[in-house]
Amino acid sequence: MQAVVIREHGGLDTLRVDEMPAPRPGPGEVLLRVRAVALNNMDVWARSGPPGGRPVFPWGRLRLPMVTGTDVAGVVEEVGPGAGRHEPGDRVVVNSILSCGRCEFCVAGEQSMCAEYHIFGEHRPGGMAEYTVVPEGNLLRIPDGVRFETAAAAPACYTTAWRGLITAGGLRAGEDLLVVGASGGVGTGALQIGRLAGARVFALVGTPEKAKKAEALGAIPIARSEYPKFSERVRELTGNGVHMVSDPVGAATWPESIRSLRPGGRMVICGATGGERPDFDIREVYQRHRRIIGAPMGNVADFHTVMDLVFRGILVPVIHAVLPLREIREAHRIFEAREHFGKIVLVP
Ligand SMILES: [Zn+2]
Repeated sequence: MQAVVIREHGGLDTLRVDEMPAPRPGPGEVLLRVRAVALNNMDVWARSGPPGGRPVFPWGRLRLPMVTGTDVAGVVEEVGPGAGRHEPGDRVVVNSILSCGRCEFCVAGEQSMCAEYHIFGEHRPGGMAEYTVVPEGNLLRIPDGVRFETAAAAPACYTTAWRGLITAGGLRAGEDLLVVGASGGVGTGALQIGRLAGARVFALVGTPEKAKKAEALGAIPIARSEYPKFSERVRELTGNGVHMVSDPVGAATWPESIRSLRPGGRMVICGATGGERPDFDIREVYQRHRRIIGAPMGNVADFHTVMDLVFRGILVPVIHAVLPLREIREAHRIFEAREHFGKIVLVP
């Protein structure tokens, strides 16, 4: 089969589509024929090396060679021994959450709190290939009429955004929400979920062009190129700041994100793509009763909730481009140049 095999860390020229044997499903696993796989930070970092020149990845060590690919939709090709819940021909999407299934957190349904919490495509081979092997418990059927590209664009980012805004953050109708990094995967998810929840949504984006796209999705855009100190613009627009900020960026935006919060406001965080050591005065948090709420990803219930909304057409994942898998270099280039607004989906 053809697969994007990452053999070394480096530039775009290290990316190529290689020929390799298709994997075989073991007990309780199924072989999936991949029909769509979305690109995430993880795929780009696995190729480029840990972000910011750090010695290890945010999720620990990565063994090379590696086939990444977390967000996968496809068709069941073959069923391994004892895997009876699916049969060849089923259209499915992968729930990327892997956990022990036995600890107190797993039993309570909080799989992403598990000490053995892992991600499909990070800790085991993923879907940047024609075929991939998935534990059968991690498959969810896709209804007829829902495209593979749509299903693959949603899981990791929309589950994370749902967890932050709704399950952990408790966003309510009528509240003001600022979405930082609104053109990214989590950002476009947060923008849409915020609108669905009945919040007034402000979208922080890099450029006026992206501002137009955010506006078309019903958000009030703030272009960072025009307002580097974006908290001042938030205050102009809201009077006293927003009830909630969703910030998946980190050090580059944290000080201004915190200043955008009204007293008692909460900031939900899930990533550190812009650095993990912010420089700010902690008195800006406690003196104003502000709260910082972290979650790296949702649980299985969050995944099912967002995928149900996607399947019913209530949440429509924003897709920047659908490219053939052989154009993997172009996909990484767009992602690193931050030209995208929404997900980049690859089709083997
Ligand atoms: Zn566990």
